[in-house]
Amino acid sequence: MILNFSKYQDGLMPAIIQDAATDKVLMLGFMNNEAYHQTKISQKVTFFSRSRQQLWTKGETSGNFLLVKDILLDCDQDTLLIKATPVGPVCHTGADTCFNETNPGFTLAQLEQIITDRKNNPSDSSYTSSLFKKGINKVAQKVGEEAVEVVIESKDNDEEKFLGESADLLFHYLILLQAKGYTLQDVVKVLAGRHKP
Ligand code: AMP
Ligand code: ZN
Ligand code: ZN
Ligand code: ZN
Repeated sequence: MILNFSKYQDGLMPAIIQDAATDKVLMLGFMNNEAYHQTKISQKVTFFSRSRQQLWTKGETSGNFLLVKDILLDCDQDTLLIKATPVGPVCHTGADTCFNETNPGFTLAQLEQIITDRKNNPSDSSYTSSLFKKGINKVAQKVGEEAVEVVIESKDNDEEKFLGESADLLFHYLILLQAKGYTLQDVVKVLAGRHKP
């Protein structure tokens, strides 16, 4: 295999790491010629660390090595795709991949903040803004519809649909609360008042 480093002034080629079993994209790193050969010889994915400016065998301190299953080059030999078996979580955050679909830091408080922003700074392209414009009755009706959808999906075994409708319900409920001038915290206060420790 001949790698074409000619377009990389720093001699570093991107290497996409893919889970050999699940096809999930795990992480992206950079390899110079030495890192590539080290990867081939050791069968453990080895990058060149741009922050530390030295060879970096992924997992050298964590033990979470990436065991090489296959190495592919793209059409013009300037990008590597390495299929590997991860020994443990790949991301330094502890996640199994650096490219998770869900944002782990995302909270309901952040979502409420975005909804407040759509209410105060309405834009034509925003669905949330359009709901505020239609008024409380219309928003309440949406909450009712989504609640019914949750009930329907709870009888089925399609977990993805159940969770999807649950998200719809929660989202529209947060909008209804704000349309009436409340936040989730106001509801939590009521619940806290009912709680007997
Ligand atoms: P490791 O190679 O897993 O032993 O981790 C060594 C160091 O490399 C960590 O402390 C992180 O700073 C960094 N690191 C590990 N995994 C990743 C990753 N997937 N993406 C970026 N940096 C990482
Ligand atoms: Zn290419
Ligand atoms: Zn990561
Ligand atoms: Zn729905």
